Amino acid sequence: MRVDVLTLFTAMFDGPLNESILKRAQADGRLDAHIHDIRTYATDKHHTCDDAPFGGGAGMVMKIAPLAAAIEDISSADGAPAHVIYLTPDGTTLTQAIAQELSRKPRLMLICGHYEGIDERIRTRYVHQELSIGDYVLTGGELAAMVVIDAVARLLDGVISADSLAEESHSDSLLEYPHYTRPALWQEMPVPPVLRSGDHGKIAVWRRQQRLERTYLRRPELLSTAILDKADRAFLRSLGWYDSLWTQHPPRRAKPKAESE
Ligand code: SAM
Repeated sequence: MRVDVLTLFTAMFDGPLNESILKRAQADGRLDAHIHDIRTYATDKHHTCDDAPFGGGAGMVMKIAPLAAAIEDISSADGAPAHVIYLTPDGTTLTQAIAQELSRKPRLMLICGHYEGIDERIRTRYVHQELSIGDYVLTGGELAAMVVIDAVARLLDGVISADSLAEESHSDSLLEYPHYTRPALWQEMPVPPVLRSGDHGKIAVWRRQQRLERTYLRRPELLSTAILDKADRAFLRSLGWYDSLWTQHPPRRAKPKAESE
């Protein structure tokens, strides 16, 4: 996947892209990240990229011209057309499902705003999707862009083993089970005995129940979209879960037989 980032602060990406899994994904050719300085597209002597807002008020707004020139120039670079994303606190909140959708696109372009944000007309003309990383305001879109790149890149084929992704939090509307490693006893806190039993069937059941319990206790709203079997439902009910979906959508009665039958 190719990812183009448009920013006023290119150096912010040096660390995240040059460490750990993102570094390896690039070395393996699975992630092709390009960080572009919007300022180089400003044509005036001072490379101005912001201006005062029409209508007055606090702060500055990122100018159209450098940003539009950057988007058009970079879009015409080799490769598939880019899916253009503006990082903004008024966008759709990023979820694992959105990260999964994005990981299937061949090319992303991420626009990082600064100051009060970008001129609305850039959003109207070029942007396909607007994403927020949460209900708070950052000084710029760079950290949000890094979050998107990290969440998406780890889902690209071969970046992380399929096993590691399988039961992760949010992968199927359930949170993940707890993890333990050596020592088996630490400060009078033992590892749950089942994990040392060698019985893989029991371990699988225990982990499933831990996922259900964590989700029930921490994010009960997620359970309404989780795929739950009979055993899952019975376990959740034993914790006090009330299956509201079941009562809202009771099983349909069999259709009355047609008169001719
Ligand atoms: N005036 C904007 C508002 O109230 O919606 C906030 C602008 S913020 C100070 C500057 C830039 O940071 C935004 O243009 C956006 O690119 C980025 N940003 C801030 N918070 C964000 C969030 N929660 N998610 C994604 N991007 C964010």
